[in-house]
Amino acid sequence: MHPQTRLTLAGQQTDTAYRSISLPIYQSAIFKFGEDGEKPQFDYSRSGNPTRAALEQTLADLEGGAGAVCVGSGMAAIATVLSLYPAGSHFVCSHDCYGGTERLLSWWERQGKISVTYADLSDPLQLALSLRPETKAVWVETPSNPLLRITDLRRVGSIAKDAGIDFIVDSTFLTPLLQRPIDFGADFVVHSTTKYLNGHSDVVGGAVIARTQEGRDAAFYAANAQGATAVPFDSWLILRGLKTLPLRLKQHEENATAVAHYLQQHDAIETVFYPGLEDHEGHDVAAKQQAGFGGMLSFAVRDGVCLRTLLSSTRVFALAESLGGVESLIEQPATMSHASMRPEAREAAGITDRVVRLSVGIEHIEDLLTDLEQALENGVAAGRRDAQRTHRNGSVVKAEAAHRG
Ligand SMILES: *Cc1c(COP(=O)(O)O)cnc(C)c1O
Repeated sequence: MHPQTRLTLAGQQTDTAYRSISLPIYQSAIFKFGEDGEKPQFDYSRSGNPTRAALEQTLADLEGGAGAVCVGSGMAAIATVLSLYPAGSHFVCSHDCYGGTERLLSWWERQGKISVTYADLSDPLQLALSLRPETKAVWVETPSNPLLRITDLRRVGSIAKDAGIDFIVDSTFLTPLLQRPIDFGADFVVHSTTKYLNGHSDVVGGAVIARTQEGRDAAFYAANAQGATAVPFDSWLILRGLKTLPLRLKQHEENATAVAHYLQQHDAIETVFYPGLEDHEGHDVAAKQQAGFGGMLSFAVRDGVCLRTLLSSTRVFALAESLGGVESLIEQPATMSHASMRPEAREAAGITDRVVRLSVGIEHIEDLLTDLEQALENGVAAGRRDAQRTHRNGSVVKAEAAHRG
């Protein structure tokens, strides 16, 4: 069956008592042992819960992995995978990874637990150059956040395999419907299910999908030991969100494509970062390894556009961090989503103050374009007023100086 059909049916067969069509929320911490003292399939919800298990099975199936573990947030998923490696391990990580990933890695590095090399993995040779004897894994985020750089999964996967290190992909931006890293040799895939997988901005969650059963067992051990596993109600909401994922993604991408083309021809915009555009640096690789270009894009405004005004002028796009929900969001990575990154790391990744990130939602495209049009107009007008004021102040200073002189 196709993923769209499998998702529609997901979770249906679990209720043997009443055969409910909707998966029950097993809101129970504990399950009874059998009369003969036999251990039930689930005994305690940190270790296992039927609602969470249905979600895990669905995600593992979509990614083509042996199994999955669902946890309380995307960061919990990332910490779960990273905690599998021994003290002293070295990691190579995409230099423009999610801000929280950089924060976690830097923190453990400051504590002396691990060491990290950040590299621009859109050039896979950078991985080969960054390897050390103690390198245990390469951490790839593609498309990257917020500049949508594309990393060639096949090439990085083959370098990792030759080097005998693990290959881990944060695939949050695309979901398994648009990108399946395990097909390219990834050992672990992580998701913030907060984003597209749930899709309604009402749950924070994460998932680890492992290529092998051994990997799944290790990730489960870590998540259970550290108490990171997801609760039943959130699991149920994410599974419900998944049922409309194919439809949502179609609309996200259609709208993002139209927004990208609109921004590209706008005078106030310097660059548009969207892998679906043919002149995007990673377009060819993205077209090869992805089944779609997704709903995320960024752009850099020209000098002289007042960003504060632009960001506060939108009516449909909400000024907020995060992404992947049905509603459109706008934000400035340097001061919002990526503020937790060290300034040097941010600069190295090219995330300037002039970059704006959009999570394009599923609204009517005309409303999205009208909204951006008026916000850009306001931003340009405010920028012009600021310039005039600076110019006038400059003249006053000069006149005063001349008077004093
Ligand atoms: C949001 C996000 C995370 C972190 O997920 P949380 O659910 O917020 O903990 C990790 N990686 C990427 C790419 C993200 O967008």
